[in-house]
Amino acid sequence: MITTLTQTIHRWRKVLLIAPIVATLIILTSLTGLLQPLEFLTFDNFFRWRFPENVDPRIVIVTVSESDIIKLKQWPLSDEKLVKLINNIKKHEPRVIGLNIFRDFPIEPGYQKLISLFKSTPNLIGIEKLIGQPISGPPILSENQQVGFVDMVLDEDGTIRRDLVTMTVQKNLNKLSFPMLLSLKYLEKEEITPQLTGEYSQDIIIGKARLTPLSKDAGSYIGIDNAGYQILLNFRGIENSFDQVSILDVLNNKIPDNLWRDRVVLIGVTAESINKSLFTPYSSSQPTSGVIIQANSVSQILSAALDNRPLLRVFSDFLEWLWLVLWSLIAAITIKHLIRQDFLNYSSILKWGAIAILNLIIGMSLIVSNYLLFLLGWWIPTISPLLGIAGASIIVIIYQWKYLATIDSLTQIPNRFYFNQFLQTTWKLTLFHRRNLSIILCDVDHFKRYNDTYGHQEGDNCLQKVAQAINKGVRRTDFVARYGGEEFVVVLPNTDTEQAIQIAQRMLAKVKALNIAHETSLTANHVTISCGIASLKLPKDKFYDDLILRADQALYEAKRKGRNRVVVYDYMANVS
Ligand code: GH3
Ligand code: MG
Ligand code: MG
Repeated sequence: MITTLTQTIHRWRKVLLIAPIVATLIILTSLTGLLQPLEFLTFDNFFRWRFPENVDPRIVIVTVSESDIIKLKQWPLSDEKLVKLINNIKKHEPRVIGLNIFRDFPIEPGYQKLISLFKSTPNLIGIEKLIGQPISGPPILSENQQVGFVDMVLDEDGTIRRDLVTMTVQKNLNKLSFPMLLSLKYLEKEEITPQLTGEYSQDIIIGKARLTPLSKDAGSYIGIDNAGYQILLNFRGIENSFDQVSILDVLNNKIPDNLWRDRVVLIGVTAESINKSLFTPYSSSQPTSGVIIQANSVSQILSAALDNRPLLRVFSDFLEWLWLVLWSLIAAITIKHLIRQDFLNYSSILKWGAIAILNLIIGMSLIVSNYLLFLLGWWIPTISPLLGIAGASIIVIIYQWKYLATIDSLTQIPNRFYFNQFLQTTWKLTLFHRRNLSIILCDVDHFKRYNDTYGHQEGDNCLQKVAQAINKGVRRTDFVARYGGEEFVVVLPNTDTEQAIQIAQRMLAKVKALNIAHETSLTANHVTISCGIASLKLPKDKFYDDLILRADQALYEAKRKGRNRVVVYDYMANVS
């Protein structure tokens, strides 16, 4: 069991090596950030491919659209109008109200009324802005810690994929984002409060949800600004994921009674002339307003805390590397399986077609796996494993093609082309080290008769077995190749005549031990071989051609003397 395992590993060692090397090279490439835009593209598409989720039952948005402003004939709303709006909402007993409209100074008439409304509404949350030009929250709400920040983090391409949950403004002073504050206020009634956990108290547990802050290189991000506490935003949707009502309908009391009760009510401006539109994974062509993104943010916290809806998580760097190795390995192994000897006989269209289709299948499987994992809440790189698949395939194709060109298709041992290469290098090394070099030429005895007796197919089988037997007779450092038809050649570096004779005898014995019946042989009743040896101590004024020629002469002599034997060419005596 263990030996077959080690044998398999040995046989596949090059393929097993290719995958981690390719993976590491791709990781290094990805560190330049070159792949980030493409990773974003797949990530965004995963959002769009997902089935739309049902409308979030916990959230209602009161929108102020462009046409609402035209009909209101007034913007910003006076404090009086705002009091009316909030009172109309309060009547229906929502659990929390989020006022996503800056209100840092009075807009008369009605400021005093607004102040007293703020004082008497503990479930009302206002907004402030902390980064860039700060904008403070409504005065009374700020004093009562009823204000959350609305600053957002954009990716390099201007798209919102992350959710900034908290920020540290001064030492030990953490501020919560507007959506987070709304969510926590909502969860108070369920008696859920956030708990810190993890090795460095970095994770936040909220009900069933566990938040983990993004690192600088989380997922496919490379060196992002991860200041504050950021998580990925697992959007519910943009268009139809939330109940929306118009501000005019609220002011005119045209809202059904049961719409608000116990829900989060978000009041926000969708009119583009007031609030800049923002890009999300859904909407590179169709930007959306901040209040929709905040609704998504509240929705993801509440549904994760209460319903166990997954938050988006990322693999550790090591797991990402393993994922990349795994796919490169799958590609390397399948391509190696595909490109075998008989594969080379197909037309080039078939060959490249098969390779392309195989790559396509593996690539599609990767995308499908990543998409399924995304549905479970994992953001895993897609582009780098795709490159891994392509890279590993190309290397294996080149390697296999080169390898197959050196192997004899019938006997699976090196062919004559490879033998020539090997002999040339060995010759140089032998000259340099002034060593012995021996060559053995073998030929199957009466093989024509074997073919005639048992058929060509059986002849092929016999040749395969003889090749393996000869291979078993030599040492690790010796090199066996098919020289032609039923002839084999062995190169024995650093070997003198005596050792070469021993090895040739061992080869004879191994072939004999095969005990392949050969009833028409004139030598024995089983298959035998004859061997001719030529040995030289270098440097001599000879060339390696001469060594082959002399081995051939010795082989001829072995045949003449009755076959099934070993004959040495004697350079000293200059005769065999
Ligand atoms: P000797 O003992 O003198 O070597 O006699 P021989 O019959 O082996 O020698 P000869 O050179 O006359 O015949 C070699 C035969 O080997 C002829 C050829 O059909 C057969 N042969 C060569 N290559 C292959 C092969 O790939 N498969 C099969 N089945 N036969 C082959
Ligand atoms: Mg022959
Ligand atoms: Mg022969």
